Amino acid sequence: MRVGVIGFQGAVSEHMEMVDAVLGRGSAVAVRSAEDLEGVSAAIIPGGESTTIGGLMRSSGVFNKLRELGKKGLPLWGTCTGMILLAKKGDEQTKRTGELLGLMDMKVRRNAFGRQKESFEEKLQVKGIGKFPCVFIRAPAADEVYGKCKAIARFEGRIVAAEQDNFLATAFHPELSGDLRFHRYFLGKL
Ligand code: GLN
Repeated sequence: MRVGVIGFQGAVSEHMEMVDAVLGRGSAVAVRSAEDLEGVSAAIIPGGESTTIGGLMRSSGVFNKLRELGKKGLPLWGTCTGMILLAKKGDEQTKRTGELLGLMDMKVRRNAFGRQKESFEEKLQVKGIGKFPCVFIRAPAADEVYGKCKAIARFEGRIVAAEQDNFLATAFHPELSGDLRFHRYFLGKL
């Protein structure tokens, strides 16, 4: 069983280590081309900078391939930047991100918690998981979920985790928390 972690920028190795910890060594593969996605059972889009990661995904062909696989039911999880890219709609700032994958019924806002609160940790109640240490770094949030998308965690009235069928989105970084429960939860979709 192989799980692809989109490997251009950001918290790639941290996600890979957690996937390996849950599924066994060598399960996680870094994805930098559409071919790297062949045969993967799930994929994760890590945090980083959405303009950069989005641009590299598009120029490499990973973007279109991921969208196609996601529509066919591939379990796909986006953390932070990944949450932005999974959304169907974005705020003004996401215009600089460029085209979004448009797979989840939600409207996201980039840098939703402002500059004075760039990075922080909060224990939040996550539906299906319980109280979880959530690490936020210049995090987005969803202003709105609709259709089949459901909010599974909120902070200060904003949606910071959401789920829709085979898709999972978190504004925070479970791969930096030292807690494997979120990775177990996602990989439980396999
Ligand atoms: N603020 C970044 C963006 O808008 C996301 C930050 C992150 O992924 N940690 O792309």
